[in-house]
Amino acid sequence: MPFTPDHFEPTDAALEARLSAIDIAGYGKTRNHLHGKVTRLSPYLTHGFVSIPELFERLPRLTLADKLAFEFGWREFFHHVWSREGERILKDMRPGLPGVRYAGDLPDDIREGRTGIAAIDRAVHQLYATGYLHNHARMWMASYVVHLRKVHWRAGADWMHAHLLDGDLASNHLSWQWVAATFSSKPYLFNAENVARYAPADWHGARSALDTSYEALEDIARSNRTLDAAPALVGITEPELLSSPPSTAPESIPSSERVRLVHPWMLDGHRFDGLRLGVIHAPFHRRFPWSGLRWRFVMDRMSATTDAVFVGNLNELNAMLSETPHVESTATLNPGYRELLPTLCTRLDDAPRRFDNPLRTCRSFSAFWAQCAGEQRERGWHR
Ligand SMILES: Cc1cc2nc3c(=O)[nH]c(=O)nc-3n(C[C@H](O)[C@H](O)[C@H](O)COP(=O)(O)OP(=O)(O)OC[C@H]3O[C@@H](n4cnc5c(N)ncnc54)[C@H](O)[C@@H]3O)c2cc1C
Repeated sequence: MPFTPDHFEPTDAALEARLSAIDIAGYGKTRNHLHGKVTRLSPYLTHGFVSIPELFERLPRLTLADKLAFEFGWREFFHHVWSREGERILKDMRPGLPGVRYAGDLPDDIREGRTGIAAIDRAVHQLYATGYLHNHARMWMASYVVHLRKVHWRAGADWMHAHLLDGDLASNHLSWQWVAATFSSKPYLFNAENVARYAPADWHGARSALDTSYEALEDIARSNRTLDAAPALVGITEPELLSSPPSTAPESIPSSERVRLVHPWMLDGHRFDGLRLGVIHAPFHRRFPWSGLRWRFVMDRMSATTDAVFVGNLNELNAMLSETPHVESTATLNPGYRELLPTLCTRLDDAPRRFDNPLRTCRSFSAFWAQCAGEQRERGWHR
C-alpha cells in the first residue's frame, strides 16, 4: 500500500474528521504498522484543540483495557514527569551506556535525508513535508541517530521537536531518552527485518547496513563504533526554523474587563465572554524554534479563535493587565509560559488530565500506570 502523506488543517472540522475515523479495536491490532489505524490526533492534542478527558467523553466505548487508553496514558505519564522534574527532562535523567561518547551536532546527511538507509531518509522527507511521523518511524530515527551514529539524544530531540506539528518537550525529549537508555534500562534497537514487518516497501533496508542481527547492533550501541553506511550526495534542504511567527504585524490590543490568555498549547476555541488574547512568549520560541509548517498550524488557529494576538515577552503584559479585574488562562509546563502565566492571571486552571498526577515522580510508565489503574479501581471506574 503506498504511504499517503498526512495533511493537518488547524480546524475543528479536521479534528472532527479524525475523531470520527477512530477505530478503537482496529487501533489495538494495527497501531505498530506505519499504515495502521493510528489516530493522527497528536497535533490537535499537543495544541489543546481537544484534551484527553474530552476524548474519553467523545469515545464512550473506550475502556482502560484498550490500547488507545494506554497510549493516552503514556502522554499523561510524560507530562507527569515534566510537571515534577521541570527542565531536568532536557538533561540525562540517568547515566546512559557506560564509556560511549556522543557528538553534539546532527550530521548533514541525516538533516538532508541522504544517509543511504531508506527508513531514515523516508522519515526525514515525511517529517519535513508533513510535520508528522508514525511512532515507529520516530523510534527508528532516534535509535539510528543515537546508537548507530553516536549523536547525543538532545541534538536529535531538539531537531525533531522543531519540525513536528505535535512537538512536545515531554513526549519528545523523554522518548528520545527512553530510546537512548537515559530514561530506561536498555537501548532501543531495530534492524531491517523490523522495518520490513511494519513499513511499506520503499522504507525497507534489505542488504543495507541495517540488515544485521540485534547482537551486532547491540555491540555497536555499546561501543564507540558507528554503522557503516554510504550517504548519497544529494538530499533535501532542511526547512528553515523560525523563532517568531512569520509575518506578524504588531496588533493593537483592545481593553476589556475580562481577558482570557490563549497560548499555543490551549487552542481549544471554547466560547468566552470577554477578550480572547492570543499570546506568544518570544523567549521560549528563541530557545525552541519551530518550522514554518508548525507556525502556520498554530497561528492560523490562534488568529481564528482570538480577538488579538500579542507577540513579545509576557512580562510586558503585566503593566497592561494590572488593572484588569479578571484575567484567566490554563496552565502549561512550557518554560517561560509556565512561570509567567501565574503572574498575569487572576485565575489559572490546571491543564486537563484524565489520570492522576502522583506527588512523587514515577520513573517508569508501568509504575505510573499501576498507580493510576489502582486508583481508578478504588473509585469503581473502569474507564
Ligand atoms: C522519538 C520519539 C519522539 C516523540 N515525540 C513526540 C512529540 O513531540 N509529541 C507527541 O505528542 N508525541 C511524541 N511521541 C510519541 C508518539 O510517537 C506520538 O504521540 C504519536 O506517534 C502521534 O501520532 P498519533 O496521534 O497518530 O498517535 P496514536 O498512536 O494514534 O495515539 C493517540 C495519542 O496517544 C498519545 N500517544 C501515543 N503514543 C504515545 C507515546 N509513545 N508517547 C506519548 N504519547 C503517546 C498521543 O497523544 C497520540 O496522539 C514521540 C515518540 C518517539 C519515539
